Amino acid sequence: MELNERAELDSSQVNDLGSSGGSGGGGFNLPIGGGGLAGIIITVLLALIGGGIGLHSATSDDNSPSSGGTDLGQACAQSNPDRFKNVKCRNLLYVNSIQSYWQQEYPKITSGKKYELADTNYFENRVNTGCGAADSGVGPFYCPQDHQVYIDLSFYNELSSRFGADGEFAAPYVLAHEYGHHIQDLLGTNAKAAQGEQTGASSASVRLELQADCYAGTWAKHATESRDKTGQQPLFTSITATDISQAIDTAEAIGDDTIQKKSGGSVNPDQFTHGTSAQRKKWFSQGYQSGNPENCDTFGASSL
Ligand SMILES: [Zn+2]
Repeated sequence: MELNERAELDSSQVNDLGSSGGSGGGGFNLPIGGGGLAGIIITVLLALIGGGIGLHSATSDDNSPSSGGTDLGQACAQSNPDRFKNVKCRNLLYVNSIQSYWQQEYPKITSGKKYELADTNYFENRVNTGCGAADSGVGPFYCPQDHQVYIDLSFYNELSSRFGADGEFAAPYVLAHEYGHHIQDLLGTNAKAAQGEQTGASSASVRLELQADCYAGTWAKHATESRDKTGQQPLFTSITATDISQAIDTAEAIGDDTIQKKSGGSVNPDQFTHGTSAQRKKWFSQGYQSGNPENCDTFGASSL
């Protein structure tokens, strides 16, 4: 994967909250796997890594302005030759690419509806969101209440050290998966799935997660076509077969069965919320090979 040095990034799509993204709040209340909304919005990943996740309502004193973040417009300006050494700028480019793709693609799958941009928020340790407060242990997630993505970038280190998913392309895959949940939110798929079963091998939750993986695959297929803020420059100059296999390895590494085994337990499909390694790999690949979100119908699929 090569990033285009000449691309102009749109820093308005990412907020760097620094370490002040969350000032108030108490402990976590809802265990993941308990189902409900929490099970749906949480990504991929960290359900089991962090040992648990939960969200509680933000309280009024959580509204203090955030501070401590970087001015990404400046740090990631094209005039800075070192910008792509900065993980924040690389991830800003990924977010720009994913949203550039959906701006093109979303109208095609909705008879002309406009894609609504969703911000990504970088935070450290703890953050207050429209879905309540969360800490880094939950992993990256999409909050349907405020329609934003949240990520503590140190998560990528954990992905590498705990799951051996250490290719750089793991990062855009993770973000593209989260934006997949935003697409589901815009399409109303989240809301429909919230009525269904939340855990188990063919639950609505698993179908949502696998669909988000498939959407990540369709983005990956078209990522080199995505354009920068000016519309003139591609964001990526190349994405290689190695990058794609890194995304597939990541999808595989964070399957529920693999995580359960690594956590020392036996595999229990009743607790699956995200799909097995084989399923995650399959659906990412299906998205990638077809390049078409309409081939991501995990709800209509007879086998997952
Ligand atoms: Zn997810």
